[in-house]
Amino acid sequence: MPHAIEVTDLVKRYKNAKVNAVDGISFAVERGALFALLGPNGAGKTTTLSILTTTLTKTSGVVRVAGHDSDAEQAIVRAQIGVVFQHPSLDLNLTAEENVRFHSILYGLYRFRPSYGMMPGFYKKRIAELSGVLGIRDELFRPVKTFSGGMRRKLEIVRDLMHRPEILFLDEPTTGLDPVSRKNLWEYLTRVRKEEGTTIFLTTHYLEEAEHADRVCIINHGRIAALGRPQDIRQELTEEYLLLDAEDRAPLDDELKNLAIPFSVTDHGRLRVTLGKREAAAIIQAIRTPLSYLHIHSPTLEEAYLEMVGREEQK
Ligand code: ATP
Repeated sequence: MPHAIEVTDLVKRYKNAKVNAVDGISFAVERGALFALLGPNGAGKTTTLSILTTTLTKTSGVVRVAGHDSDAEQAIVRAQIGVVFQHPSLDLNLTAEENVRFHSILYGLYRFRPSYGMMPGFYKKRIAELSGVLGIRDELFRPVKTFSGGMRRKLEIVRDLMHRPEILFLDEPTTGLDPVSRKNLWEYLTRVRKEEGTTIFLTTHYLEEAEHADRVCIINHGRIAALGRPQDIRQELTEEYLLLDAEDRAPLDDELKNLAIPFSVTDHGRLRVTLGKREAAAIIQAIRTPLSYLHIHSPTLEEAYLEMVGREEQK
């Protein structure tokens, strides 16, 4: 079975730009997965999402969405996806329900009916179910201009799920939502995946949100900095190690070799011992050479992420 999304060597250079906004990225998303594209401002997240959702042309590379080429089969791709962008695209003068109804009619889901009452039962059931989960059912018949930013975001999600898209794309979906709505939204997205098998692709700035994902792709300056399951990325980024040094390095060097403890030498000439499953305390106790420097490196995921993004920044 093909992946829900396959991206190969994707490049985007905006007109007159000196560098590529997306600079040769490749990744695949399994069907039914929750995939998070994470990165700082300007990393290339929205650019990638816009190409995947066929609203922006790429410079080169291959993009397949729901098994179809995003250029050659654009219309088919569009019919299989739902997209919620950062900037709402609702008609503020219409009610929430009217926004959903007209969108559904545009998608060819239902024939035009001038009022909610005339819509078929399964439309009413679906909109009630979706708006109920997102907590906006009581507001369905209010004009959208009276909605808060968070309610508008939820309404867009309701609207874009009406046609049961195979893949739902969300650009920073929880930005502007209060913590309760954020939690609700996550619970709902989890339910949608479980019940409808929807693949969810989202972009986020928040590391903790990426931890909900099956797989995470961290991009920075248009390139992939890390790709994999959150726990693997965590392990990779938060690798614990000891930095050791002694006035007289040779005996320390010999001692570690005798103890069969693998190490490398840093640019500063210090000895770096990756801990893996070893206990720092046990290693330190085993060493007899007087140490002039000892540091245990044990970053949190947040620190490791900021360090990585910061490091890239200085290049
Ligand atoms: P944010 O988190 O701030 O939304 P992002 O990761 O989504 O950032 P993009 O919006 O994809 O990043 O931008 C990637 C790069 O491309 C940035 O350097 C940005 O300035 C540039 N860029 C984005 N849109 C355009 C455009 N229409 N024309 C020229 N350059 C653009």
